[in-house]
Amino acid sequence: MLINCDLHSHSGYAGGVGQISLDDLEAAMDKKGIDVFGTGDCLHPLWSRFLKDNVVEAEDGLFSKKGNKARFMLQTEVIFTAAVGSGRKSVHTVLLFPSFESVDRTCQLLENIGVKNTIGRPFIKCADNFDVGNKLSKILDIDDKIEAIPAHVMTPQGVYGSNNPIDKMKDFYGSATDRIKAVETGLSADPEILSLIPELDDYALVSNSDAHSAALNRMGREFTTVETTSFSYSNIIDAIRKNKIARTAEFNPTEGRFFLTGHRVGKKGHGDAYCVFSPKYTPKDNKCPICGKKLTVGVLERALQLKDIQGGTREFGELSPSTKDFVNMVPLVEVIAYSAGVTSVVSAKVVALYDKIVGAFGNEVKIWFEKDYVVRKRLESVDATDNVIDNIIKVKNGNFSFSPAGFDGTYGKLVVGKKEDVFEVNVISGKASGQKRVF
Ligand SMILES: [Zn+2]
Ligand SMILES: [Zn+2]
Repeated sequence: MLINCDLHSHSGYAGGVGQISLDDLEAAMDKKGIDVFGTGDCLHPLWSRFLKDNVVEAEDGLFSKKGNKARFMLQTEVIFTAAVGSGRKSVHTVLLFPSFESVDRTCQLLENIGVKNTIGRPFIKCADNFDVGNKLSKILDIDDKIEAIPAHVMTPQGVYGSNNPIDKMKDFYGSATDRIKAVETGLSADPEILSLIPELDDYALVSNSDAHSAALNRMGREFTTVETTSFSYSNIIDAIRKNKIARTAEFNPTEGRFFLTGHRVGKKGHGDAYCVFSPKYTPKDNKCPICGKKLTVGVLERALQLKDIQGGTREFGELSPSTKDFVNMVPLVEVIAYSAGVTSVVSAKVVALYDKIVGAFGNEVKIWFEKDYVVRKRLESVDATDNVIDNIIKVKNGNFSFSPAGFDGTYGKLVVGKKEDVFEVNVISGKASGQKRVF
């Protein structure tokens, strides 16, 4: 059987978000077609207490509200920080747990090594990569079913990210590296980009939404479909460890907030000016032509650097032999909002049409994997306009781009029906504060 898993999220305790209710999550999972969802922040005392009071173990290691269909997996993200390379590096890492007992024992361990957990995402301070290896191993020793997955590996807070860059997984995770079997692609990367990095041939690639809410353009925007015999924590983890992954559904990397190199509008000294570059156009000194500070290096550029450093031979577009099927998606509410010419994906008009469309298919996931003529027929049956139908089909066929692509923390802007060459972006635009218009 195929199980759609989205195993990285955050609760209301992660800061910057309101409280998230399980009812809202269940409703969104049903519409999106997600079977198993990571609870987020399960090491946080209040969230873990809430979960214990509100879910029951439905199958081995999977939890649900009593009698309900939606399944939850105990999950958190932790941040390991260590002195590596030329400075300190912080790396986000997803942890999955088979039981509340293993969660409680991990909380105890963290307390014993002086880790406070007030923000949902505990900060595990380490001296160096040797210490990271030790501490991660201690966590994994608690239960051999606990899984550690380096999160969004290419973003600045990921293991390969441009913040104090390192060249190999081992340079950060030390002796625990061999116990890592999968990495998370993150919103700004997909299997095509990660195929540039040779050492990843030995890892399964998983994809998760990293959602901070149950919003329909956030949860399930990325997920992993595993192939297994029945619902259980062990089966899902086993499928991940053995790379028995049927496919990943990927946010389009160019929409991700760190795809290209640049500096966004509003940065100190920028006013409304921004700059964004494909790798070959990045200024040689890596300095921003507007403010003079170091540019935020994008995922594409960083992946090409790692390819050279690790002696990779594959060109962009050539997939690693271990890569599984994957599809690039755009959240359906975004396609509908775009077609209706509105900016808000939660406007009543957008949500009403979304609900009608999803009702006709069963859930959103099915649209992305259904044949075009079936999609067209079903969309016609719910009176979707020609514009909406055409745009959904175009997105399904990859006939869209994000222009400009995401960079320096800003999401890419969707344009349906137009492809943009991500290797040919070279923009310095707008008026910087205290400067004349750049051009
Ligand atoms: Zn993270
Ligand atoms: Zn700048």
